Amino acid sequence: MKNLKYFVIFMVSSATFILAWSGHEAYTYLVVRSLPIDVDKLIPITHYTYQESRLYNEKYYYTEDFAGTRKFFDDLGDGVFPPDPEPVDGKIPIWQILTIYAQFPDFGMDEGLNLSPLQTLIGNSQGVRHMRYKLGPIEAFEGDRSFAYFLNMSREAFKKWDEYWGYRFLSYAVHYLEDLFQPYHNLPGTLWEVLNGLFDKKVMKVLNNAHYTYDNYLLFLIYYSRHAEDFREIIRRTEPRFICKDPGKLIYEVVMYGYYKFSEVHREVKSAFSGILETRVPSMDDFRRLENEGKLDKLLKITLDIVQTMTAVLKGFLITEISKLVQAS
Ligand SMILES: [Zn+2]
Repeated sequence: MKNLKYFVIFMVSSATFILAWSGHEAYTYLVVRSLPIDVDKLIPITHYTYQESRLYNEKYYYTEDFAGTRKFFDDLGDGVFPPDPEPVDGKIPIWQILTIYAQFPDFGMDEGLNLSPLQTLIGNSQGVRHMRYKLGPIEAFEGDRSFAYFLNMSREAFKKWDEYWGYRFLSYAVHYLEDLFQPYHNLPGTLWEVLNGLFDKKVMKVLNNAHYTYDNYLLFLIYYSRHAEDFREIIRRTEPRFICKDPGKLIYEVVMYGYYKFSEVHREVKSAFSGILETRVPSMDDFRRLENEGKLDKLLKITLDIVQTMTAVLKGFLITEISKLVQAS
């Protein structure tokens, strides 16, 4: 029982360092722009008028509109893509709302909260809201509930004929859905590594760095890889897949998929970046060098499979949700 307690402490501790896929905004832009839906439709920006049942770090729970500021764009991006024009006559298109706010939940709103007794051990909560661990018999964290919560908020907004907040909350939900396709959001390491990590900080450091590395790999593929244009095109061309209408079942399938993909991703991340993970997270230059040496070929193949599945599911989800929301409004 004591071991179980340490086990949980470890998982929670590791979560404090952990954010998400990098470049949610760029990835989401590519997905949203290729939907068979009129995403150019202009939506008037409205004020926030919602009572929410979830706690946030209010300081970072911004409710003004940020179109044209690139505020929630990843620092590792190129500062140019995706576009972020200023509003015209107080309106912005659907694609822009979904793009800007896809990265928003990583900018502090879930940090520094007191969500559960485990929280007192670490004093941080971002990982709790963005992940869903399943390690042996232990299940922890609420990434799946974060998705369901914002999907519900989006539906509430559309019921009030508030399209701006309908799409903005939907974008927050998309963030959590994407997070749960990142296998390190479903497991921190193998059972053996996690147990070792309780006594050996070096093991824990490798696991944290491996997680960050894979977060950044998506961004590398979108911006800096020599395959970047092909990669973007694959995202654009991936056909939607409609797996189930029930969002609870959908997110469960996503969690199980990420969980199932963990071993091959983890094995390959450790092999491709060995010698680096022990001390740091690889830079974009490291990624480029390893790609040129052919050391990322296997990881690319595994990742293409995950990204195509994520893209197909996300497109299916957005098409289903937006057509339903628009009909209801
Ligand atoms: Zn996240």
